Amino acid sequence: MSGIVAGKLAFVTGAGSGIGRAVCQKLAKEGATVVAADLNAKRASETVALLEGSDHLSLAVDVVSPNSINEAFVSVLQHYPKPPTLVVNSAGITRDNYFLKLSETDYDQVLDVNLKGTFLVTQIAVKAMINAEVSNGGSVVNLASIVGKLGNLGQSNYCASKAGVEGFTRGACIDLAKFGVRINAVLPGFIRTQMTDIVPEHIKTILIAKTAAGRMGTPDEIAEVVAFLCSNKSSFVNGASIDVTGGFF
Ligand code: NAP
Repeated sequence: MSGIVAGKLAFVTGAGSGIGRAVCQKLAKEGATVVAADLNAKRASETVALLEGSDHLSLAVDVVSPNSINEAFVSVLQHYPKPPTLVVNSAGITRDNYFLKLSETDYDQVLDVNLKGTFLVTQIAVKAMINAEVSNGGSVVNLASIVGKLGNLGQSNYCASKAGVEGFTRGACIDLAKFGVRINAVLPGFIRTQMTDIVPEHIKTILIAKTAAGRMGTPDEIAEVVAFLCSNKSSFVNGASIDVTGGFF
């Protein structure tokens, strides 16, 4: 099969919905075999049913649990001869509240899934690549957010987690370069998914007004950039944070 990631094996978290699902579809269209991992096993398998090509795999994975991620990699290595060399960290949650009402639990959960989960999946995946001597050409793409740079009302926990993902990406880039692994972050603006379906209409109107394009983005528009970062076409892009916002101000 041809395509910019032909012959590669990709591990995508948050694959049961939104951007993660669109990334799986784009990578498969571009010739990759995809492991679709999500907390929700049913939705991950529904994603696999949508993919072009064959031999894709769906797995239930909780990115906050090292055991769960390690078990997933055991399953992957039972199914394929080599571990994935492309990793997309798209699992993410919001627990929005005004700052003075934000609970410690909601703060911790968002930091755990969005930031610690990105670290855990990346570390386990890169160790597997190095052990199998396939790390050269590896690429990790993390879904951060434009609000990690700009802030957003009622999202101090989420903004902190996504700014953290950018810092994590820049730091890990320096450590991972010697193994031939690149790592980059994509910063979406306001994208139409299950995550933003719950945003009240009047807030949606405000966020669209702050977008130069005058509309919400689609998961496919994010997946295009993620696929570029996964591919060798971005071979000199490393440690970068790339805004994909339609012009958010
Ligand atoms: P989404 O549609 O809600 O998809 C996120 C997926 O992650 C869901 O399937 C969710 O499963 C899964 N997930 C949650 N916790 C998990 C865990 N502990 N382990 C494994 N999977 C888990 O959201 P999205 O809009 O596609 O967002 C994808 C990424 O882009 C997120 O990191 C998000 O923060 C980021 N982002 C989104 C936007 C936007 O406007 N949509 C903007 C900027 C950044 P459940 O449904 O079962 O919880």
